[in-house]
Amino acid sequence: MSPITRVQTSFVALDVAVLGSGLGGLCAALSLRRAGHKVTLYERFDFAGEVGASLSVASNGSRWIERWGVDVPSVKPVTLQRLIMHDWETGTIKNKYDLGDYKTKFGSEYYNFHRIDMHQTLLDTVQQEGGAGIPCKIITNHRAIEVDSERGIVRFENGSSATADLIIGADGIRSNTRQQIGIIPEFKASESCCYRCIISAEKLHSLGLTEFITNNAIEFWGGYGINKIVLSACHNNEVVSCYCFYPASHNGLDKDGWNISATPQELVDTFPGLDKRIKQLFLHSEDIKMWRLYIHEEYPYWQQGIVGLLGDAAHPMLPDQSQGFCQGIEDAAALGLVFSEDHFKGDVRRALELYEEVRKPRATRVQKASAKARTDLSERIGWSTGLERKDKLTIEEHIKEAEAAKP
Ligand SMILES: Cc1cc2nc3c(=O)[nH]c(=O)nc-3n(C[C@H](O)[C@H](O)[C@H](O)COP(=O)(O)OP(=O)(O)OC[C@H]3O[C@@H](n4cnc5c(N)ncnc54)[C@H](O)[C@@H]3O)c2cc1C
Repeated sequence: MSPITRVQTSFVALDVAVLGSGLGGLCAALSLRRAGHKVTLYERFDFAGEVGASLSVASNGSRWIERWGVDVPSVKPVTLQRLIMHDWETGTIKNKYDLGDYKTKFGSEYYNFHRIDMHQTLLDTVQQEGGAGIPCKIITNHRAIEVDSERGIVRFENGSSATADLIIGADGIRSNTRQQIGIIPEFKASESCCYRCIISAEKLHSLGLTEFITNNAIEFWGGYGINKIVLSACHNNEVVSCYCFYPASHNGLDKDGWNISATPQELVDTFPGLDKRIKQLFLHSEDIKMWRLYIHEEYPYWQQGIVGLLGDAAHPMLPDQSQGFCQGIEDAAALGLVFSEDHFKGDVRRALELYEEVRKPRATRVQKASAKARTDLSERIGWSTGLERKDKLTIEEHIKEAEAAKP
């Protein structure tokens, strides 16, 4: 492989290296494969470490998943139909926001997936022999340590190296690629922390909590202040997943990572006074893990030379709009368009500049709206129309911006 050195005047298929095969990197690979490029993904582990929790994907993400030919039924979706707000202590329903005929209005469904199902299906799809484009290659146990953004060379910890015409840094919130192109992130630990846990539908049935499996909803307790529980079903309604936000000071600030476990009792004790049905659910839940949250400021740029950033490497955001992955999907879609036969005439640097011009303002707006929604549920897209509130991100605008983000 060798980087393109001449400026072409017609479409040219590129050798692309995607660094990181998380959800964002896989979408970038798929989108660029569909656009006619030859893609190799390099992953530091021999698995990508996706965790057992839910992932809601609104229409601004699901439309691309469908367009790229991902077999959605194999991701075992739950089609979301409403948002439900419960009283923290009694659990009574305080508010319901029906999504109505969401698909007719926005063009594709609002899905809830299990993260592992999504990751596996994307892994299969990028490598599939069938479907448009050249099957992508995935090379594991390759941790990128050096990236030369001018010459297109990547060096790996194991001593090997690779050359590419275009390098996409999809290596997550602690991106090394970002550092390699000179960005020093400004960030701070959030005052909030998050536990996630899952429970099977079978257990919920036996506990008499069947409604949480069949509501096809994202359900909230709290959300005005740090404490918030977000519950939803995924995996063909066979699993229910909870995100449980609480003050980071509760369990010390020295713990970090995505693999720190907690016991069911610790989870219950974190939320005194919570609806006793949810405490009951917690006591029987599995795979309880802590997620420390960080607030990153907008980065000064997203690309340099022939290297572009994508997903959490470019715009890590708090999870309160459920938009981190969706924004990664939009990034991938924009890359597929700027490097498409219709738009790409061989100038990789210009195409990456265009990618940044189109995507950075939009993702930054969603990043800011996510931070606002951390302690104010009424800032969540879809929770209220927002017409009454200056500068709130609304569903309508969100969809309009997603459309406008097409080059
Ligand atoms: C609590 C919580 C709930 C969320 N819920 C939602 C939701 O409902 N909807 C939604 O849209 N988003 C949600 N998100 C956000 C979403 O999970 C992330 O935005 C998304 O997973 C980021 O994907 P990524 O591929 O950019 O990064 P990552 O998933 O972090 O993937 C990075 C990959 O790069 C690899 N890597 C790292 N360094 C190197 C290296 N040097 N060399 C090679 N490989 C490397 C890693 O091993 C990993 O596989 C949530 C996030 C949190 C924390």
